[in-house]
Amino acid sequence: MQEQIVQDLWKVAQGKWESGVLPSKDSLARARASLPTTLSATGTSLEAVQRHILDDIVPAFNGGSISPNYYGFITGGATPAALFADNVVSAYDQNVQVHLTNHSIVTDVEFSALGLLADLMRLDRSMWHNGTFTTGATASNILGLACGREYVLRKAAERKGVQVDSVGEFGLFEVLHALGLSGVQVLSTLPHSSLVKAAGILGIGRANVHNVCCADNPLHFDIEQLEKELARADKVSIVAVSSGEVNTGRFATTKEQLLQIRQLCDKYGAWVHADGAFGVFGRILDDSPEFATVKKGSEGLELVDSITGDGHKLLNVPYDCGFFFCRHPELAASVFQNANAAYLAAGSSDGPAIPSPLNIGIENSRRFRALPVYASLLSYGKHGYRDMLQRQIRLARGINEWIFDHPQYKALPEASSKSELLDQTFMSVLFRAKDDNLNRELSKKINDTSRMFVSGTSWDGAPATRIAISNWRVDVERDLELVTGVLAEVAQL
Ligand SMILES: *Cc1c(COP(=O)(O)O)cnc(C)c1O
Repeated sequence: MQEQIVQDLWKVAQGKWESGVLPSKDSLARARASLPTTLSATGTSLEAVQRHILDDIVPAFNGGSISPNYYGFITGGATPAALFADNVVSAYDQNVQVHLTNHSIVTDVEFSALGLLADLMRLDRSMWHNGTFTTGATASNILGLACGREYVLRKAAERKGVQVDSVGEFGLFEVLHALGLSGVQVLSTLPHSSLVKAAGILGIGRANVHNVCCADNPLHFDIEQLEKELARADKVSIVAVSSGEVNTGRFATTKEQLLQIRQLCDKYGAWVHADGAFGVFGRILDDSPEFATVKKGSEGLELVDSITGDGHKLLNVPYDCGFFFCRHPELAASVFQNANAAYLAAGSSDGPAIPSPLNIGIENSRRFRALPVYASLLSYGKHGYRDMLQRQIRLARGINEWIFDHPQYKALPEASSKSELLDQTFMSVLFRAKDDNLNRELSKKINDTSRMFVSGTSWDGAPATRIAISNWRVDVERDLELVTGVLAEVAQL
């Protein structure tokens, strides 16, 4: 029966993809009108619920993950292997929280999947087979800043010979007070909004996330200014590297710059966190000159302390899934240890030392979200994922080339030559219309065609449009024709 349900759902999904990337107004209205206003006392049959969901609700979904031409946000899709595994996860509903070797294999599989991911990202297992699966890059950024906060205050306590050194144990206020410090600051360049949110959640404060960028490039670190901030006597610091900036897809650093940052952070006891939600995937590219610039931007990540990655974006597994790598295995438990619950203690220690997920991350009870990752990695291997990413990059470059040559559009950030622009293009395309009136409406006009979907954003204080390519189904020729066709049409409206 399980298999039949999956088959049926795929059929529905395929139909949706072909019928447009956004639901029709009618479908939305019908779905809204179908929502009950109160819970009935008796419930209804399973068949009736299924019919309601498939007939009323599903038609009002967007094609986000199903369509290869949905370029809004960075949604990715769900590979067949991941979709299969995700259905197994729901059917068997395992709780992945405590490593109990005689109870279930799930913690072993999750740990194995983390190792496979490290392999994909060319992160040496001897240092990086440590971390956890999360609900997404936002949660991973919270983990990164939480571990960083613990680390930098511990370093400050060591320097000052103070015993009150763990925020997890004593709380931020008491630790700062004991150390005579006024706060923790995060130093970054064009951080993703979720990193600022993480600072808010962790008591660091959104106002204490500071840009330390060069005057001529908002994404590049001003190393002199960075050192000045790191050297402050009243604050401790976490450096957050945008390893893939969400509008442009570009990288904040090269390996040489990360090495410089690493040395400064070691000197001042600071932590380096890299937000590589999609950018860490640059590491799966090979050495061909075609992708050298992108690859270069993701080089050196092995030098940082913690790395955020997203599963539900370029890895193409279903929502919700992110991952977190950390080079300091002992730290997460200081923050996330689930205190005083003897019934949750881990059992015997057969096999590798696998930490119980509930002690190193946010949740206690957790979905087996590592299984779709495991399945998809086994299914595609390194080369399958590389091929997928190469198709995404080639499509983005094809679109950018067309935009660069088009009299009514302008590619962003402004490039002095086409070859420079294409070289820098990862899997997203940022652009605007030269005509202000068209530009204000550009994203809407594109989305109104329902043949593709893009995100509106802002760049340099003016509206801009972003095409983020992240779906495993990318077909360069087919999709280039569709996208340029829509853009040409919209320019004439
Ligand atoms: C998407 C994204 C995030 C947030 O990820 P979620 O999976 O939505 O939580 C964080 N950082 C970057 C660079 C991103 O692209």
